[in-house]
Amino acid sequence: MKTFLNSVILILGLSLFSQAYADQKFPINKPVGGELFGHSVSPIGDGVYVFRWWVYRNIFIVTDEGVIVTDPMNPKAAKLLQAEIRKITDKPVKYVVYSHNHHDHISGGIIFKAEGAKFVGHENILKELSDHPSAVTPLPDITFKDNYELTLGGRTLILEHYGPNHGESLVTMRLPREKILFVVDIVTPRRVAFRMMPDFWPDEWIRSLKEIEAADFEYVISGHGPHTEPAIDVASVVMEQRVYLEDLLAAVKGAMDAGVHNPDELKTSVKLPKYQEWRYYEEWLPMNIERIWAFYHMGW
Ligand SMILES: [Zn+2]
Repeated sequence: MKTFLNSVILILGLSLFSQAYADQKFPINKPVGGELFGHSVSPIGDGVYVFRWWVYRNIFIVTDEGVIVTDPMNPKAAKLLQAEIRKITDKPVKYVVYSHNHHDHISGGIIFKAEGAKFVGHENILKELSDHPSAVTPLPDITFKDNYELTLGGRTLILEHYGPNHGESLVTMRLPREKILFVVDIVTPRRVAFRMMPDFWPDEWIRSLKEIEAADFEYVISGHGPHTEPAIDVASVVMEQRVYLEDLLAAVKGAMDAGVHNPDELKTSVKLPKYQEWRYYEEWLPMNIERIWAFYHMGW
C-alpha cells in the first residue's frame, strides 16, 4: 500500500512538474539586448540558455552531468561561449550539436573537443565537411539519418532531419519538456529571406517548413537575430516564414506568367507590401526575387 501511495504521489508530482513547464510563459517580446557587435546570454529557464554573438544565436543546456552546446559559430564566438558557460557551471561540455554544414555556424568547436566533447550531426555533414574541411571544425563523432535523441543529465534534445532544404544536412532541435524548437537559417522571424538565398532550395524549403509546423512545439528559438529581437518567439513564426516564401514564389511566377522574364525588371516591379515592416525588405527583397526567377527559369 505504501509503495502504491508513493507511486501515486510520484506520478502526481511528475504531472504537476510537467504541467508547470507546459504553462511556463517565456519572454517572447523582450529584446535580447546588449550591443549589436557583441555577445549576450539569455537564460530561458531550467538550464536552457540562448547565446547570441552579433546576429548569430545558439542554445546551450546545462545539466548535472555536463553541458550540451549547439552551433559554436566561429573560433571567436566559441571562446566567448566557453567563458560564459564557465560562469554558470564547472561541468564540462559533453556534446556539441551541429545544425547543418555551413561554416559560419559550426566553426570553432575544436576548443570543446579539448574538453572531451563528442560532436553530433546529420550523416550528410561528413561528406560536406570532408569536401570543405576546416581545422577548427571537428567532424561529427555521432551521426544519424532521420532523427536522434540526445540525452544528458535527464534532459533530452530531439534532432530531426526533414530532407534537403538549406543544404542536405540541416536538422532542427526540439526540447520536448519546454516545447521549444531551435531552428537555424530556415526560420528567421520578421525578416525576408537571406540575400540571394545561398544553398536554399525554395520548393524543398517550403515542404520542410510544412512538415516542421506539424511537430510538437510551442516556442521557437532561431539561429539569427540582432540584439533588438527577442531570444524566443511563438511557434507561428514557422508558418509566417513559409507563407512569406509562398507569397514570394507566387508573386514572381505571376509576373513571369504575365510576360516579364527579365530578372532586372522583376526585381524592380515585384513588390510584397505585406512584408514591408520585415527586416531587410528594401535591401534583400530584390535579391530574393532574382533567386526565385532562377528557380523558375532554370529549374533549380
Ligand atoms: Zn546555413
